[in-house]
Amino acid sequence: MNENNSFDVLVVGGGAAGLSAALMLGRARRRVAVVDARAPRNAPASHMHGFLSRDGLPPSELLKIGREELRGYGVELLEDRVLSLDHGFTAKLAGGRELTARRVFVATGVHDDLPDIPGLRESWGTDAVTCPYCHGYEVRDQPLGVLGTEPASVEHALLVRQWSPDVVYFAHTTAVSEEDRERLDARGIRVVDGIVTAVRREAGHLTGVELGARFVPRAALFLRSRTVPHDGLLRDLGYVEGDVDASGKTGVPGVWAAGNVVDARATVIIAAAQGAAAAGALNHDLVTEDVRRAVDAFGGFSPAAERAAAGAR
Ligand SMILES: Cc1cc2nc3c(=O)[nH]c(=O)nc-3n(C[C@H](O)[C@H](O)[C@H](O)COP(=O)(O)OP(=O)(O)OC[C@H]3O[C@@H](n4cnc5c(N)ncnc54)[C@H](O)[C@@H]3O)c2cc1C
Repeated sequence: MNENNSFDVLVVGGGAAGLSAALMLGRARRRVAVVDARAPRNAPASHMHGFLSRDGLPPSELLKIGREELRGYGVELLEDRVLSLDHGFTAKLAGGRELTARRVFVATGVHDDLPDIPGLRESWGTDAVTCPYCHGYEVRDQPLGVLGTEPASVEHALLVRQWSPDVVYFAHTTAVSEEDRERLDARGIRVVDGIVTAVRREAGHLTGVELGARFVPRAALFLRSRTVPHDGLLRDLGYVEGDVDASGKTGVPGVWAAGNVVDARATVIIAAAQGAAAAGALNHDLVTEDVRRAVDAFGGFSPAAERAAAGAR
């Protein structure tokens, strides 16, 4: 393996988690490569909210600033995709390059699997969203809808009510119990039964929800998507879902993970924090290995051993 392709840490995924990890590791003077396919989860959103000091910034701008900071620490940034990783941590990239590393940091995120409803995907990230903490304030006091996709969708509707007094819960594929109807009713949330057949859009904006011939005007729609982790590389190494500790260390020796790939609920600032924390733990692991290698290199003739031997004479 060419020295230029050999790193202390290979970071796979350059969203908030991966870049934040790389910043810590670059500043710790590790040789780091970040391989990123440049498709972060929040790419469809025009603005990112809830990140202290960066509230309202376009998501791509945060990552651009992050990459710029990393260049200052000599981190190698590759716009590419890791296709495979073996147990010796040799990574094959779609662009043809092969990299090897002492440790691997996986921050490959998730994607949102949306219900197959015409008009929904086109609205995703703008006026069809999942997280009210990220986008609720921007549609406050407007007519909002919550799409029932799973039993917990009722809780989602009760949460969204925090941002507007005009919320409709579209039961869609969910069964709403009498108890839940009472709770929704008590909070002034109207329940509309029936299958949603389309999300209507006019002039580039969501205008409401269709249930067959019926139309309910709405300004925005919230839904809980099914998140699908991009954990194929991890699984190929033997990772089992959930096998990651609080420090980001997975059950696969030498492999660390942070951000949405292991925690789908993490918002950007949380993913970044997880990345930074896990990078610190990973660096500590490398320090331990560096010390062990240094002791081995002395072959028993360390200064401490020599002093002890001299004292015994
Ligand atoms: C529509 C929408 C809007 C959102 N808005 C907000 C908001 O306003 N505020 C907020 O805090 N959170 C928001 N979020 C959540 C936010 O997207 C996540 O918190 C954040 O993206 C998690 O960061 P991450 O680094 O874990 O993953 P990502 O940002 O998804 O980054 C993962 C990266 O890994 C890359 N990758 C994947 N596989 C490979 C591979 N094999 N090789 C190389 N690269 C790979 C991907 O291309 C991607 O660039 C929103 C989410 C959605 C869906």
